[in-house]
Amino acid sequence: MKKHNFSAGPCILPESVLQKASEAIVNFNNDNLSLIEISHRSKPFVDVMENARSLALELLGLENKGYKALFLHGGASTQFLMTAYNLLNKKAAYLNTGTWSDKAIKEAKLFGEIVEVASSKDKNFNYIPKGYKIPTDVDYFHCTSNNTIFGTQIKNFPEFNGVNVCDMSSDIFSRQLDFSKFDLIYAGAQKNMGPAGTTLVIIKEEILGKVNRAIPSMLDYKVHIDKDSMFNTPAVFPIYVSMLTLEWLKELGGIPFIEKVNNQKATLLYNEIDRNPLFKGYAAKEDRSHMNATFNLVDHSLTETFDTMWKEAQINGLNGHRSVGGYRASMYNALPLFSVQALVDVMQELERKA
Ligand code: PMP
Repeated sequence: MKKHNFSAGPCILPESVLQKASEAIVNFNNDNLSLIEISHRSKPFVDVMENARSLALELLGLENKGYKALFLHGGASTQFLMTAYNLLNKKAAYLNTGTWSDKAIKEAKLFGEIVEVASSKDKNFNYIPKGYKIPTDVDYFHCTSNNTIFGTQIKNFPEFNGVNVCDMSSDIFSRQLDFSKFDLIYAGAQKNMGPAGTTLVIIKEEILGKVNRAIPSMLDYKVHIDKDSMFNTPAVFPIYVSMLTLEWLKELGGIPFIEKVNNQKATLLYNEIDRNPLFKGYAAKEDRSHMNATFNLVDHSLTETFDTMWKEAQINGLNGHRSVGGYRASMYNALPLFSVQALVDVMQELERKA
């Protein structure tokens, strides 16, 4: 039986997707060729690209609203600089909620003045700052919707009338939001979409063309839009798997369906963290992420016992990030509820033993 996979990313993908993806590696579309040995300009792959792009917009409710979906290279980390390259003339506002926001800020500083509107660094990013003001004279506001490492998630996004940019790498397609409030959304594929190697960028075309600098072609959103996300050879396999995952999600009932499942999983685990006297949650309760739950043992002398128990229960990927320590249970879209139950069972067994 497959392990219960709580890995933070790359992470669990649906079984049916893995099955179809493995078949396509050997024989794609029954054409006696592998998906990864055909031209990216051939009709079968162009169809994959178009399907993946339109499914992404459809699932987010952004069809016919002036948005384009792109599948680019370089991970979300390249988007840290690409957003600034394409959008930052003078000044931009950033909310600092952890390592990934911090890295985005570092890159953006190469292009202009950065106003850090608020930061939760004072408590090692275990909460989401609130009540901050965003200056009106900035080119855009950037935030990270879900902080993969610290296990916090923005529940209420600030109302900002300008251009809104969001790194949704670790919670895209997991919960219902008014995605039309964002002008640019980016997400590395390797959480809720597919294998590492491609990055989804959803962009409202009208925000482009407003910076004065020359932009190298590979970093220019306009170039990728004009070439239908085929300016250079795209990451054919990660895009194909992303398409399969988006099809899987659509068939299940889209974001409204998966959000309910994600809420059930998060409730089950957080209830146990709060009930079980051996454990303590890391993130502030109101800001807890439904994707990545961070928690610690109250008594560290139980670490070895607990670690042996969850590994014996066929659980994978529970170690916390080195900057937080403790444990992190990542519960992305493809993780079944019974995997969370398996973890809760181990936590309860530890309580009986201790
Ligand atoms: N942003 C967030 C929220 C992330 O979780 C990650 C990676 N885990 C990144 C950005 C960086 O993504 P990549 O490794 O694709 O560059």
